Amino acid sequence: GEAPNSKEMMGVFHEELDIYDEDRLTLLTHLREALDQEQLVLYYQPKLNVNSNQVVGMEALVRWIHPTRGLIPPDEFIPLAEESGLINQLTLWAIDRAIVDMNSIKQAAYSGTVSINVSARDISKMSFVEDVKKILNRHSVAAESIYLELTETAAMEDPKVSIASLTALAEMGVNISVDDFGTGYSSLSYLQRLPAKEVKLDRSLIGEIRSSDSAAIIVKASINMAQALGYAIVAEGVEDEETREYLKEYNCDTYQGFLTCRPLPLDDIRKWLNKNYST
Ligand code: C2E
Ligand code: MG
Ligand code: MG
Ligand code: MG
Repeated sequence: GEAPNSKEMMGVFHEELDIYDEDRLTLLTHLREALDQEQLVLYYQPKLNVNSNQVVGMEALVRWIHPTRGLIPPDEFIPLAEESGLINQLTLWAIDRAIVDMNSIKQAAYSGTVSINVSARDISKMSFVEDVKKILNRHSVAAESIYLELTETAAMEDPKVSIASLTALAEMGVNISVDDFGTGYSSLSYLQRLPAKEVKLDRSLIGEIRSSDSAAIIVKASINMAQALGYAIVAEGVEDEETREYLKEYNCDTYQGFLTCRPLPLDDIRKWLNKNYST
């Protein structure tokens, strides 16, 4: 439904479209290979207590180390994985790898919970529940040690099955986390229908606390409401100390952000923990 652009008017639109499709097909073929050949890696970003800066968890964030293109961020290939169905395999790989990685860095300063992002297509299959259970059993890991993050929009794509699978996971002990809250169509009435333990306030809101009174009021009210409803709160995208001070004042539980630590490869996270938290 877009207005014709200049390329279309020049009559090259279809040609362009073909090239574009071919490119995506190539990318998808390479993505399948990447998954088999260990070209996908997980970076980790700590989740910290707002007051004490204690590490309370880690979020796994996938990257593609492409042999010729270098590091490709998730936003550039997750949508393709979702459309093609490859996401199911990718997500199970990520859960498995994140558990293995976190077991390898467990130490006094870090108890070992890990958050993994999941997509609509994962939770819209009941078999996902069994798949997750198998991974937990294989590593003898308690369900309580993982968080699965998803957006409300993802949960509402196929609400009947999605809410059923999320409920089954929550009953197993898996922590459900609502990602990017405050964007898109997220609302507190939908939130109530999800068996969530944690709500993550989107960085677009957090980034505006300092400059916008209304954003600050929305963040403060969201924290109060979500806490009154029994959810733990994570502020995403905290980039400066001033924002963290506001969050302390608002009694926010935990945060993530470049202020304290960017997402890093496992080895660097290990070093970061040793440097900042070893006793
Ligand atoms: P998300 O789950 O909301 O992850 C937070 C994103 O914000 C990450 O981007 C992280 O690097 C970035 N971030 C963290 N702190 C800051 C900050 O202080 N400032 C700014 N500007 N950004 C910050 P990333 O790693 O590029 O991931 C983007 C999105 O891709 C994620 O958003 C998530 O929706 C998706 N994603 C990442 N890994 C996976 C995965 O394994 N599976 C699925 N299905 N999706 C994934
Ligand atoms: Mg996330
Ligand atoms: Mg988010
Ligand atoms: Mg996101």
